[in-house]
Amino acid sequence: MTEARELPSIVDTHTHLDDPAFDADRESVIEASRRMGVRQFINIGYAPDRWESSRWLRQQHPDVDIALGLHPQLAAQFDGALVRKLQRAIEDLAPVSVGEIGFDFSRTSPTFDEQERALRGQLELAAIASLPVIIHQRDASDALIVELDKWPTLAPIVLHSFDGTQRLADWARERGCFVGIGGLATRRSSESLRELLARIPVDRLLLETDSPYLAPAGFASRRNTPANLPGIAAALGPLWNLGGEELCRLTSINAAGVFGLSGVDQPT
Ligand SMILES: [Zn+2]
Repeated sequence: MTEARELPSIVDTHTHLDDPAFDADRESVIEASRRMGVRQFINIGYAPDRWESSRWLRQQHPDVDIALGLHPQLAAQFDGALVRKLQRAIEDLAPVSVGEIGFDFSRTSPTFDEQERALRGQLELAAIASLPVIIHQRDASDALIVELDKWPTLAPIVLHSFDGTQRLADWARERGCFVGIGGLATRRSSESLRELLARIPVDRLLLETDSPYLAPAGFASRRNTPANLPGIAAALGPLWNLGGEELCRLTSINAAGVFGLSGVDQPT
């Protein structure tokens, strides 16, 4: 099909379109995003009720894929019953990834032990299913490196909305991780983040919004949507000497390779 080349073929690799923030106008948000060139949405189901709403969203829309996992901020919920439920959901619903999982030390709870248990249990499930993992990391760069070094043979690792230390960026480059870039990096206060990102190779970049969160700089609405991706790409492309459309095109090829998406161009 040649139609994929008419638009800058964008993949939003991290969105929460099932979020209540879209209850009033979800369909028009999705439609507006398609008109801006978004060809595929990966909706992140980060809790059991979101697994269900992600599945429902995918059922309505052929261009929605899903990832399933338990967010580190919910790690206290992780127990044997949840593991079995998640494993069954992975088998039954065929997500493209396990996520978002990881470490978030920005609050005092859940405890480190709870988060470690939840992350390990889910890395185990990802390893069994040979699925890529989408990692959420906040204030936890060193702990994340320690844990992921114990899993040298995982399928691709995606560091979503990268916001880590220089050390994590260096480690990610060496490990060949994929790095999610989006609205956060466009903000005026993100100068040092942009410096780290500029050193990530283009073939490891993924575009994402994390919508409704992380609205980019310069947009009137505080609610982020996938329709903002061309603007985000235009703002960030110069970090790699790329125009926005080229960044969209290249990151879509990366996304197709990582997640095995059939609706967009595969890497050649
Ligand atoms: Zn998210």
